[in-house]
Amino acid sequence: MRSTLLRPGDSGPRVAGVRTVLVDVGVASAAAGPGEHPDVFDARLERAVREFQQRRGLTADGLVGAETSRALDAARWHLGDRILRYTPGHLLVGDDVVELQERLLGLGVLDGRVDGLYGPDTERAVRELQRSCGTAVDGTCGPTTLRVLAQLARTVGGGDAAALRAAEHVRRAGSSLAGRTVVLDPGHGGTDLGALGGGLTEADVVLDLAQRLEGRLAASGVTAVLTRGADQGPALAERIALATQVGADLYLCLHCDGAGPGSPGAHGVASSYWGQVRTDDRPAVRSVVGARLADLVQRELVARTPLADLRTHARSGDLLRLTPMPAVQVDLGYLTSPSDAALLADPAFRDTCAEGLLAAVQRLFLPEEDDAATGTLFLGDVVARSRG
Ligand SMILES: [Zn+2]
Repeated sequence: MRSTLLRPGDSGPRVAGVRTVLVDVGVASAAAGPGEHPDVFDARLERAVREFQQRRGLTADGLVGAETSRALDAARWHLGDRILRYTPGHLLVGDDVVELQERLLGLGVLDGRVDGLYGPDTERAVRELQRSCGTAVDGTCGPTTLRVLAQLARTVGGGDAAALRAAEHVRRAGSSLAGRTVVLDPGHGGTDLGALGGGLTEADVVLDLAQRLEGRLAASGVTAVLTRGADQGPALAERIALATQVGADLYLCLHCDGAGPGSPGAHGVASSYWGQVRTDDRPAVRSVVGARLADLVQRELVARTPLADLRTHARSGDLLRLTPMPAVQVDLGYLTSPSDAALLADPAFRDTCAEGLLAAVQRLFLPEEDDAATGTLFLGDVVARSRG
């Protein structure tokens, strides 16, 4: 559920504030024209909000909800604007932290991921940098550390080093599925039914899919943990806390879609991973493992089913940003599409989807040369391999 703080038609100083921030972060079209009221949420501001949301990989609904509001706050900070330090229970968040983390990754001292939060991993990385440069070791990114970073600016770009690190982590973990933990997160649940159509509810369909996949993963030696049962609808924070607690290697979030009045014929399957699109001279950042798993999931499902290919997408919403392990969200069919809904109503089709998802998870951990052709790997192969 998405809470809306400001929407078209609203007016007041908070609307004017959003307009100012949008202009500050480079959405020039947000500025009120002659004779327009800066404190009115008009069509111009709505377009500007959508543009900002698209750049950030957020749902481009033109509304200022909690997620967009946090992204606006974060976008205002540039590295050097303020002193960055780790404060437990109240983490600093912002694009300046993203920039710092990209630099630390590029220097090979950050082990975590680029999430824009100044947490313990980032502090540890700053300490390591300070130790290796012989400056005072306090874990705080202030003027001295910023000078050190500027001097080191000629080193390798963050993206390459991040990709190397992520790939190395997967290689180190070996090629067998046995011993891994995958969290399966069927969306919605409890009183939240999600999308509706064809006599189905999204909450029921994705839970059933998760259970079919759970059995297959278990048979191949993987510990699969579901975030909810039939009558539960845990909050996002609870789902992520569970995944952290069980030390999940992967987080697979399952949804179906429902078309709004603007796109009544929508149908097909799409997969998303964490990533941010950049429009200035800084590189795009993304979860390398997440992107690979999203690609594998998408390929397997499109090869095995008649669902239309709506491709993979980098997104920076809370679920993909806050999960501390590689995470992918699959939007498996539109319940509002009669053809998609008819497929999803069929248990045999759900089995096919579960097999495709299993193959994608396995392929992620297989060395490339062992990779069988897309759409050909079935449960028997996986069992045989994990025993071998
Ligand atoms: Zn959903």
